[in-house]
Amino acid sequence: MKVSEILANSTKAFPSLEIVPPLRGMTKDELLESIAPFMEFKPKYINVTSHRDEFEFREEADGSFSRHLVRNRISETTVCAAIMSRYDVDVVPHLICGGNTVEEIESRLDNLAFLGINNILALRGDSMSGEKRFTPTAGGYRYANELVEGIRSYQGSNTYRRSRGLETDDRFFCIGVGAYPEKHFEAPNIETDIANLKRKVDAGADYVITQMFFDNKVYYDFVDKCREAGINVPIIPGLKPLSTARQVAVLPESFSLDIPLELTEEIAKAGGNRNKVYQIGTEWCAMQCKDLLKHGVPAVHFYTMGKSDNITKILKECF
Ligand code: FAD
Repeated sequence: MKVSEILANSTKAFPSLEIVPPLRGMTKDELLESIAPFMEFKPKYINVTSHRDEFEFREEADGSFSRHLVRNRISETTVCAAIMSRYDVDVVPHLICGGNTVEEIESRLDNLAFLGINNILALRGDSMSGEKRFTPTAGGYRYANELVEGIRSYQGSNTYRRSRGLETDDRFFCIGVGAYPEKHFEAPNIETDIANLKRKVDAGADYVITQMFFDNKVYYDFVDKCREAGINVPIIPGLKPLSTARQVAVLPESFSLDIPLELTEEIAKAGGNRNKVYQIGTEWCAMQCKDLLKHGVPAVHFYTMGKSDNITKILKECF
């Protein structure tokens, strides 16, 4: 089912879960076992992130350079197909502009349509490691709003089906997009960032998922600003439990977000006690989740990073 239909038909808020495709070498069974703990909660859909291949150039003995793949994950489409082969759950592959030409994106859309996958989270993607700023791929899209437009206008499988007199569906894909309650790090201000979010919705996005945040007020204020700006689609809050003390330094830097003083103080008090830090992070996230549910959010999205213990504890407590 499409996420838009799930959102429209749900009478109660539900959790959605995001996983990261494994690096090559993991087997399909190992991957499916790793998500088994989540399935107990009957998630309505699972998001699978997308990662562009990375390359490095190595100098050869003769002075020439050769190109090597240094990190390569199983593709989101393959992971989605594997999940569908074992579990009765919808999947939402992420689709990124970075590393893809328009033709490559269209080929991915054909592959998804072939598998009957009609949900996509459309994103620009981050810069490659070593790059300061995102560089669009030659012949690709520059921003996510262009990707949303491209998905909406692509008629690949419809063209084939029409030519054979088969049924077609111009709105086959339900499209979600990302948003940043604390502003995307490249945007000059939150107002401009929200105007750019509106471009994605105007281009045909059905709903929004936010970047993680650790202070719910930030999300509530963001939703108010979006509504004022005329963005009327569901805005699903994204949460991630802190699991190590190191993340207090890493997450603000990587995701351009604030961690509230109360939480950083509690973590500092735990000293080097890893279990205590893990517990504090889990409890904080459960407290955020309960408060969001009380405020009537349609769903809560969890960035699981492939870890299940803290997430399943939060799901048990909140849903
Ligand atoms: P955009 O909406 O294109 O925005 C990027 C920047 O450009 C913003 O500053 C925006 O204000 C500005 N902008 C947007 N449109 C325009 C325009 N038309 N003209 C001028 N400026 C504009 N990354 C991955 O690589 N793989 C994933 O699977 C992945 N999953 C994610 C899931 C969620 C829920 C979220 C919130 C993020 C995810 N990301 C993922 C990270 C995301 O790719 C990065 O944050 C990226 O830097 C921005 O992506 P976007 O789709 O929000 O970009």
